[in-house]
Amino acid sequence: MLAAYIDGTCLCSQVKIRLRTEKLLLESGQIEVKLCHCDVCRKINAGPSFYITEIADSQFTMTNSELVHYFKTSENGQRGFCSHCGTYLFFRDLSTRVYEFNPELFQREYFKFTEEIWCLSKPDYYNFADETLKTDYE
Ligand SMILES: [Zn+2]
Ligand SMILES: [Zn+2]
Repeated sequence: MLAAYIDGTCLCSQVKIRLRTEKLLLESGQIEVKLCHCDVCRKINAGPSFYITEIADSQFTMTNSELVHYFKTSENGQRGFCSHCGTYLFFRDLSTRVYEFNPELFQREYFKFTEEIWCLSKPDYYNFADETLKTDYE
């Protein structure tokens, strides 16, 4: 059984995130992880971006959040990085205030890879073998 919280950090460990798992659990007890192939995600992360979706700001706490550097990547979207080590932390939707966290900050054994989005933007040089739901855009 998954704990009530999972803890994550950036590479230098100064930004710490504690995520409440309650509303994120699938029936299997795992947390769903999705993947975005869009041009921004691939450029910003040297490849498609895995993410844990739909996290409200009431579902997590962040330590040393003053170290987070924000960069606006679309009309309603902004990315957060650790300003010390450069680790990509999250996407944040400015209109809904929902976060999508980088799952690689956390303990990976709890995750299930379920969906790929922006598949029409995916370049031909890579493919994932996992059986996932594939969406053209968002
Ligand atoms: Zn850091
Ligand atoms: Zn994307």
